[in-house]
Amino acid sequence: MLNSLDESSQSSQENERSPIHTADVWAALESVKDPEIPVISVVELGIVRDVLLDGSEVGVKITPTFSGCPALHVIIHNIEQTVLELGCTVIVETVIYPAWTSDWISDVGRQKLKEFGLSPPPRHGGRLEITFFQPVPCPYCDSLNSSIRNTFGPTLCRAIYYCNDCQQPFEQFKAL
Ligand SMILES: [Zn+2]
Repeated sequence: MLNSLDESSQSSQENERSPIHTADVWAALESVKDPEIPVISVVELGIVRDVLLDGSEVGVKITPTFSGCPALHVIIHNIEQTVLELGCTVIVETVIYPAWTSDWISDVGRQKLKEFGLSPPPRHGGRLEITFFQPVPCPYCDSLNSSIRNTFGPTLCRAIYYCNDCQQPFEQFKAL
């Protein structure tokens, strides 16, 4: 009789502290935005490669977009804070290989880039050279009649174009 009471009080204690699942961590990481493009999350950008869970210990594997991107330490800090708020401990591991490719940006992420005024990078399936001579669509009017203005935009990740139809300058998130 006493034993069964003990068991029931134990199980109700466990129910009070609902366990964290990897899906909860992925969902929370959707709130971590790229510091330079605040409309897109690190998940949509394809930076988060894996989430590992052991009890309340979380491991997050990330692959930075462009090597030496100064935003990286901000991203790591924001990921750590977000996971800590779930009541977990966290280790963020940076994985360099395989290198990040813009193909990993999700469809939702591409739409958000476009709405932000950044022409999303074309998918290339590892054959980056096929993107070199592809016309770059204007994010405002979808015209392919654009000209490159400057290979390097405000960050290494972007190139500046000019739309010859709606006559607006815009940036492309460069394919990588
Ligand atoms: Zn245009």
